[in-house]
Amino acid sequence: MHKLTSCLVASLFLFDIASAHDHATATYLGNEGVLVSHGDTKILFDAFYAEGFRNYTLVPDDIASAMLKGEPPYDGVDAIFVSHVHGDHFTAAPAIAYLRAHPSVELYGSVQVKEAILKAGIAQDDPVMARIHGYDIAPEHDPVVFDMGGLMIDVVAVPHTGNWTNIQNFAWRVTLDDKATVMHLGDADPVVSNFSRHMEHFKKRKTNTAFPPYWFIGDKNGKIILDDIIGADQAIGIHVPKRAYGKGDEWRKNAGGDLYTDPGETRTIPDE
Ligand SMILES: [Zn+2]
Ligand SMILES: [Zn+2]
Repeated sequence: MHKLTSCLVASLFLFDIASAHDHATATYLGNEGVLVSHGDTKILFDAFYAEGFRNYTLVPDDIASAMLKGEPPYDGVDAIFVSHVHGDHFTAAPAIAYLRAHPSVELYGSVQVKEAILKAGIAQDDPVMARIHGYDIAPEHDPVVFDMGGLMIDVVAVPHTGNWTNIQNFAWRVTLDDKATVMHLGDADPVVSNFSRHMEHFKKRKTNTAFPPYWFIGDKNGKIILDDIIGADQAIGIHVPKRAYGKGDEWRKNAGGDLYTDPGETRTIPDE
């Protein structure tokens, strides 16, 4: 009897631990790079880039090397998403090195990302190209929607901030294991009409955590987009200048919202 009771207690205890670990998490890699994990389901956003333009954090060497080697927590990645082709978000060489080292990982980006890879000298008939998916989407186009393993994926184009109308900037929304939904906005401009035209799309699925560029945080239109149009439970600003490193609390206080400032920092993603 005693044995049975302690066994029951032990299994209840284990169940508790299991459900506590069931939350998805988001780990900051640098600039707009984020690892999102739900158990064994893992994705990377804007994780391979070589440029900081003197202002932005690169992925630190220890994180980059752990990713390439597939060391925990960077093991078992399913897919890579790229917001746009700028050098502080994407560089072909480290992305290709990663894909070669991890033969089951798929990469999703714009046609411009695919062109950048070909321009970097990868042959069209190289086997790695079969895992690189480039979409040609303009801001006025309907969303592209597809599935991959435990991932529900959809994407719209939202114009890049500043004078970069020729750059395809994507807002990827990904649901991991039907549980946790995240959205990455790349270098989007906080212009309400750029998002409200996709209102129906955004309302189709609840976004638990959005990763907007930091200029959305504390911005009136950024708030309307995040709260009313995307309807995110939480937002974490990315692309924070590297001078904020180590001063996250101060920067978050001044911004009036959450920001990632230090590569390696992690947040829990709220559940449905
Ligand atoms: Zn950009
Ligand atoms: Zn950028």
